[in-house]
Amino acid sequence: MQVVLAQPRGFCAGVTRAIEIVERVLERHGAPVYVFHEIVHNQWVVNDLRSRGAVFVDTLAHLPAGSQVVFSAHGVSAAVVAQAQHLGLHSVDATCPLVNKVHQQAQRFVRQGRTLLMIGHAGHEEVVGTMGQAGAPVHLVSQVGDVAALNLPTGKPLAYVTQTTLSLDDTRDIIAALHARYPDIVGPEVDDICYATQNRQVAVRALAAQVDLVLVVGARNSSNSNRLREVAAHDGVPAHLVQDASDIRPEWLRAPALDTLRVGVTAGASTPEVLVQEVVAALRQRHAGPVVQLAGVREDTRFRLPVQLAVPVV
Ligand code: SF4
Repeated sequence: MQVVLAQPRGFCAGVTRAIEIVERVLERHGAPVYVFHEIVHNQWVVNDLRSRGAVFVDTLAHLPAGSQVVFSAHGVSAAVVAQAQHLGLHSVDATCPLVNKVHQQAQRFVRQGRTLLMIGHAGHEEVVGTMGQAGAPVHLVSQVGDVAALNLPTGKPLAYVTQTTLSLDDTRDIIAALHARYPDIVGPEVDDICYATQNRQVAVRALAAQVDLVLVVGARNSSNSNRLREVAAHDGVPAHLVQDASDIRPEWLRAPALDTLRVGVTAGASTPEVLVQEVVAALRQRHAGPVVQLAGVREDTRFRLPVQLAVPVV
């Protein structure tokens, strides 16, 4: 068996920044530090921060005034920001700057008097946050079939924004359907899909071309991890999402034959490398030979921390 690793994989700049923000707030203020929603969609990361004093909450309503609260990398609605202020909480915003960029774009389109559509998955925290930042009602489109069913107010120009972690291919199809029905609609093309999502989808496609099986290490609720599995499967390679090594099923490792099997491994943007290495170690225990890493884009994107946290406590 050969193990082939995709490059790039795992943590993106937005996830690294969000985790560092929680760590620095803990350093400065001590536990508890409340985090609104999972800071990133990965249980290992959440449990690690929880063990150091982070408390994850889905509502701000019962937090004591004066508490420290961090908003997750996915962003929050304007109503949540206002509620935190109203309750006297000290909030730190760990929203990824690329999600913030989409918020600003949505607000710009609304200021231009446009009816706004969002391409994204219903209920995903980023989508809820962006729709709640736009300052006007937003119409959600999740798949091509939704476009024909849209019933938009007439007389106003249209615009769309997209979730940052979508499939490049699906989004292109939805945008094409929107342009076919509303020729004057404007939007950012696929630019809202962030660099990390794009790089990981390109990398998993290159990986899928070389292996018999793809394992994507990532959480079940991680949008970009699910998209990586879909991209590999779409290219005709059996692909499975595994949260960690314990999810690997022996029956996946049989075809075409164990000694010639090539297993590709990648990871979503919220998955720590430690989980990837555990998966690699588990595969090597099953007679894997050397591990090969594909060439790919070297990412050097870094996002600045909020100004109040920029200097570490000494
Ligand atoms: Fe930011 Fe993209 Fe990472 Fe999401 S996946 S946190 S948008 S860099």
